[in-house]
Amino acid sequence: VLMLVIFAVNKRLKTLVKIRTQELEDSRKELEKLSNTDSLTGLSNRRCLDEFLKLKLSEVARYQTPLSVIILDIDHFKRVNDSLGHNIGDQILKALSTLMSESVRSTDMLGRWGGEEFMIISPQTQLEGAARLAELLRTAIEKHVFSIDLPICCSFGVAQLESGETPKELFSRADKALYDAKQTGRNKVVTAAPSTSKQSETTNPTGA
Ligand code: GH3
Ligand code: MG
Ligand code: MG
Repeated sequence: VLMLVIFAVNKRLKTLVKIRTQELEDSRKELEKLSNTDSLTGLSNRRCLDEFLKLKLSEVARYQTPLSVIILDIDHFKRVNDSLGHNIGDQILKALSTLMSESVRSTDMLGRWGGEEFMIISPQTQLEGAARLAELLRTAIEKHVFSIDLPICCSFGVAQLESGETPKELFSRADKALYDAKQTGRNKVVTAAPSTSKQSETTNPTGA
């Protein structure tokens, strides 16, 4: 009888340990997801983008494959908040995130870089390909009906990773291209040329 009791208790304990281990694993995954996700848009957050790029850099170095990044920023977004309120601004950020998620490849990482700025990291992609994707997004956003009276459009900076470049340097070149897009009319894509030469404009619509 004693043996039977010990056996039953042992079995019960094993089941309990299994359940607790699974619960711990679930909470660990949930925490990891939370720490990588932007709570408003559900996109990857900056931390996650940084980690992804770090991971991809070793691949790029090993296999000599290209990698490009796109930084985009909503044009005159302050006007949306100022005239329609912060809640509507939040809704626009969410709608824009959904719209962009539909256009990027599963191998690209789209994330919220901060505020009204987003980033796409495109592995295996040269500057021209990334600029095409940026232009596709730019027109998709421009055409999209956001159900508010103000127009929503974005400016884009695109850069391809150079050999020996750090993530910081790459982001900085993309950011500089974005700045130039803002300075030269907004609602456009500007590509960053190699660090030694001047950057060039790939699209030049009427501007916002
Ligand atoms: P520009 O074309 O030069 O980018 O002009 P802008 O008005 O978009 O840029 P500015 O930096 O002046 O303003 C950014 C605005 O984005 C102000 C800020 O309140 C708003 N913003 C940033 N994060 C959020 C957010 O999470 N929700 C809402 N509703 N607004 C946000
Ligand atoms: Mg901004
Ligand atoms: Mg802006």
